[in-house]
Formats: sequence, structure tokens, C-alpha cells
Amino acid sequence: MSEIKTLATAWLDGCSGCHMSLLDLDERLIELSSQFTLVHSPLVDRKTFPEHVDVTLVEGAVASEDDLKKIRKIREHTGVLVSLGDCALTGNVSAMRNRCGPGPVLLRVYPEPAPSEGVPALLDRVRPVHEVVPVDVFVPGCPPSAETIYQVLVELLAGRIPTLEGVAHFG
Ligand code: SF4
Repeated sequence: MSEIKTLATAWLDGCSGCHMSLLDLDERLIELSSQFTLVHSPLVDRKTFPEHVDVTLVEGAVASEDDLKKIRKIREHTGVLVSLGDCALTGNVSAMRNRCGPGPVLLRVYPEPAPSEGVPALLDRVRPVHEVVPVDVFVPGCPPSAETIYQVLVELLAGRIPTLEGVAHFG
């Protein structure tokens, strides 16, 4: 694996809890951040995804046309793609609507008819990230603990693909 110099994070259909767990690294974030540049994230003010990012952590499932476009672009421009958290890995909470389809969800939120502009079209079924694009590292947890995320980043920065057997679990 080539040297990691740039890192990005992204969220699709998630609750932001996985990003909160990343922030729970606290002072260890400062320790790690001397080794890479955070080039794109909901936590930084950059609108477009860069041409190339060494590692991208993705929270959330693929639930809308917007998510689909976003994750394909991220995959195209990312060296190592990390599925972060149970929503990214399995659909989890986001996929609860798969039992009824998008129609009843929209009706629940919007009085009829749902606005045609400003609301990304929902996919017929919420999908985990690896169903849409290849994923290199899977990090389970709802959310994954800060300790787990730390181990993942340390391993990646050392040029290794992390193995999380016995370290991380679903839920
Ligand atoms: Fe939120 Fe859990 Fe999904 Fe992470 S895995 S986005 S914490 S619901």
C-alpha cells in the first residue's frame, strides 16, 4: 500500500454518529493529523471532492440518487475506501425503510405531494456501500468506537490494511 498523505471523510444516509465517534479521538486526532491532510469532509469547508485522496472514510448507506452519485465519485478518486459503521456495512437503521419502500416514508414527512425540487430522489431500496462500489476496509459498529477508529487510522498510516477481528463488532 502506498504512503497515506491525504484523508477524506464523507457521509451518505447516516445520523452523523460515526463522525461523532471520530471526533471522540480528541487529542489523538491532533497526534494523527500531523501525518496527513484532511482534504475533504463535512468537518472542513471544501465543496468538491479532490482529484485523488489516499483514504476516504464513508459513513452511512446509499439511499438516494444523490448518495449514489457521491459514492461513485468518491470511489473513482480514492485509493483506500473504508466503510465506517453499520449503516455503511449493512444499511442498518437507514435500511429500515426497505420493508415499505420510499413512498410511505415521503408521505410521512411531507404533506402530499412531496416537493419535486430540493429533495434527492430516493432509491427503491437502501443499499450498503459495498453493494454499489468495491470497499477495501469494513469497520463495524453503531457507531464504531473511537478506539477502533484510532486503530484503523494507525494501521492505514503505517501502510497496512487493518484487520479488526476480535476488535470491532456490529451494534
Ligand atoms: Fe448513526 Fe449508527 Fe448509522 Fe453510524 S452506524 S450513521 S452511528 S446509525
